[in-house]
Amino acid sequence: MTKSYTNAPGLVSDTRLIDNYDRPIRYLRLAITDRCNLRCRYCRPEEGVPFIPHKEILRFEELERLVAIFCSLGISKVRVTGGEPFSRRGCLPFLTRLRKIDGLQHLHITTNGVKTSRFLDELAAIDIDSINVSLDTLDQKRFWKITRRDYLEAVMQTVHGVLARSIPLKINSVVLKDTSDDEIIRLAGLARDFPIALRFIEKMPFSGTVRSGKLENGNLSQRLKRIFPAIEECTDTLPTTARIFALPGYKGSLGIIQGYSRLFCSTCNKVRITPTGMLKTCLYDNGVLDLKKMLRSGLDDKEIKSAILNCVQNRCVNGHEAELNAKRAKEPSMASIGG
Ligand code: SAM
Repeated sequence: MTKSYTNAPGLVSDTRLIDNYDRPIRYLRLAITDRCNLRCRYCRPEEGVPFIPHKEILRFEELERLVAIFCSLGISKVRVTGGEPFSRRGCLPFLTRLRKIDGLQHLHITTNGVKTSRFLDELAAIDIDSINVSLDTLDQKRFWKITRRDYLEAVMQTVHGVLARSIPLKINSVVLKDTSDDEIIRLAGLARDFPIALRFIEKMPFSGTVRSGKLENGNLSQRLKRIFPAIEECTDTLPTTARIFALPGYKGSLGIIQGYSRLFCSTCNKVRITPTGMLKTCLYDNGVLDLKKMLRSGLDDKEIKSAILNCVQNRCVNGHEAELNAKRAKEPSMASIGG
């Protein structure tokens, strides 16, 4: 069963994505590669997760066709992610072409910031709506320990380059077992001094290794309230995956993303496409529709739309149910999902 809206008398009715729990789907995350120039410990082991062969990855034309199909179904926001999106040659021209797709109102990118600074002028020129940079520490040694690479300086160049161009900037920071209060305070200093939305993220079971099982980093909102007693939760923001907090005198904001606790499923408006073209209607599912197979077997847009509409009618109520159904023995790597 699908739902239809008639825009106005006389206009053709338009089928939109609304799931079986009445949640409208407006947001598509597109992981364009599984390759990455970092090896963050919580995301992927140094070795043992082979890169996906190029022919298994969706081609840019295939991705563009899918985005156009999803936009015709009411998707208005697309986030390009990976792996590291800038590890894929042609990422910038691809973003430029996405910008022109009918119905796409908001285009965002999530990047580790390692190579990103060289693309900032072009990103500003295509009017990218925001850039999310992942940054878990401001300490060079710890950066190496977490990412197994030595690129903190390059990431900071990106951070300051984004600010200099007044592109809205979010920083995502995964809180690990050994993330200290001092580290949290130093990172929060970025949101104090600059207009940055800094979001602390619960570590989720997507490390590309064996299952760790439980939440590692405790209750993040209690921790922030303890460290910053003057913090106030903003309740007037639209429902999103992040809970946002303000602090007096801060130019930016702090936030938490409770992706392990899965407290935001009831308002989840998001679907994902993996680098190999699997549609995921929940971060925790194993993929529910093989879009690559449909594209490469010559199906037309109408047939693909109908399969997508059917899938969102079978969405899990929340990430706990999706994880239970997925019955995974091992954690997949977030690099093959896109975050
Ligand atoms: N390479 C890009 C980047 O670093 O932002 C985009 C892809 S990365 C997989 C997207 C986001 O997922 C990053 O913010 C990263 O920190 C986060 N991530 C990866 N593994 C995670 C995990 N196990 N738990 C929580 N977040 C994770």
